Amino acid sequence: MNISVIGTGYVGLVTGTCFAETGNMVTCVDIDEKKVKKLSSGKVTIYEPGLEKIFERNEKEGRLKFTTSLEEGIKDARIVFLALPTPPGEDGSADLSYVLGVSKNIGTLLQKGDYKIIIDKSTVPVGTADKVHDNILSKLRARNISNPEELFDVVSNPEFLREGVAVEDFMKPNRVIIGTSSERAKKLLGELYAPFVRQGNPVIYMDERSAELTKYAANSFLATKISFMNEISQLCERLGADVDMVRRGMGSDERIGKRFLFPGIGYGGSCFPKDVQALANSAKQADYEFKILEAVMKVNENQKKHLLPKIYSYFNNNLKGKRIALWGLAFKPNTDDIREAPALKLIKELTAAGATISAYDPEAMANVKREIGDKIIYAGNQYQALEEADALLIATEWSEFRTPDFIKIKSLLKKPVIFDGRNLFELYQMEERGFYYVSIGRKTVELK
Ligand code: NAD
Repeated sequence: MNISVIGTGYVGLVTGTCFAETGNMVTCVDIDEKKVKKLSSGKVTIYEPGLEKIFERNEKEGRLKFTTSLEEGIKDARIVFLALPTPPGEDGSADLSYVLGVSKNIGTLLQKGDYKIIIDKSTVPVGTADKVHDNILSKLRARNISNPEELFDVVSNPEFLREGVAVEDFMKPNRVIIGTSSERAKKLLGELYAPFVRQGNPVIYMDERSAELTKYAANSFLATKISFMNEISQLCERLGADVDMVRRGMGSDERIGKRFLFPGIGYGGSCFPKDVQALANSAKQADYEFKILEAVMKVNENQKKHLLPKIYSYFNNNLKGKRIALWGLAFKPNTDDIREAPALKLIKELTAAGATISAYDPEAMANVKREIGDKIIYAGNQYQALEEADALLIATEWSEFRTPDFIKIKSLLKKPVIFDGRNLFELYQMEERGFYYVSIGRKTVELK
């Protein structure tokens, strides 16, 4: 099938590459000329495990092309995916200007006799498919095209991939949600997704509005689950319980499940914060106060700052001249994405209090440098970051931080002090190794 993907960011590039991998001809469109140039020269623009290999293969075999021209991009396509940004607007609602702007442009380009399916893959509020439909239709009517309704269908097909395992998620999705009332679109999309659900994972067909809401409901539920656990971790600290034990005890109940129960320094990333906010805003517009979501947002903001008072108190409320090593900048491991990363908040607060930060992240340092420049020191590796530092702070649970050389850490830090926002280490081991160790929802290990 000929496919076009408009917007070649995290979702667009993975979507385009994975569809090419199953034999489709894919053209990706982006307005960012630098990005298109880099992709056209055979280089991937994001870090995502497994992506580079299949990108190179499909690019070489001519199944994956890139352009800045929407006209050229959609010319031969039967299916057009919109993988455009939907950032939060000032009031927290999803900014639909990218999606609606492109849909108008598509309306000026559709040609008689050339049926296309336009698919919202971006995360968009309920009613967006209708708006996209109306935009295209009004442009076709303005061009006096006869029977314009027959020229296209608009489908909601939200994306559930997780950054860090995006290729795996796309190639073997837990489920595919297709929101449409068009039989023609249903049939074509069923064929397109068939290679991805061979193991029997469901393709769930529904109406457009339910599909749009499903995506927000899923992300908001996961954000709620994390926030609930973060609240439990606060209680653990106050009541002398160990959140790791509570988590294991709870998670073994099949009704609850083991995943998304890890407490930490708050969720971040390009999706959870904006999607929770957008759903709460949609609820408000529908004259409904979604009380749980309001609480989730508050809990998460507090959780991002949870370690700060502990750091201040350790240094007697004086961070001037102190150097803190920071392991992890990305909002989660296996990605270079730093959107809404808790590490950025910590950097802001700690540098404002007078501390120097020497940071290391396996993939995200270039993105942080682009955003905050030389406000912090960028170390060549995780141990270099520790040199002359007064403490180590861990903000992202990259695998390589899980079993570090503790003897080396001790020899490089001025004092063996670790603030761990991701509970990477066992308390008894930190006690044996002689560290002052602060984590989330567990007792502080004191220096003997
Ligand atoms: P992104 O910012 O990484 O990518 C968006 C791309 O669109 C950018 O490359 C940008 O240059 C391009 N763009 C902007 N305007 C354009 C235009 N007029 N024409 C062509 N290209 C244009 O965003 P993303 O993370 O890929 O997210 C896209 C959508 O998918 C969002 O709605 C997001 O909520 C949703 N989503 C994201 C994820 C994720 O993990 N990142 C997962 C599921 C769903």
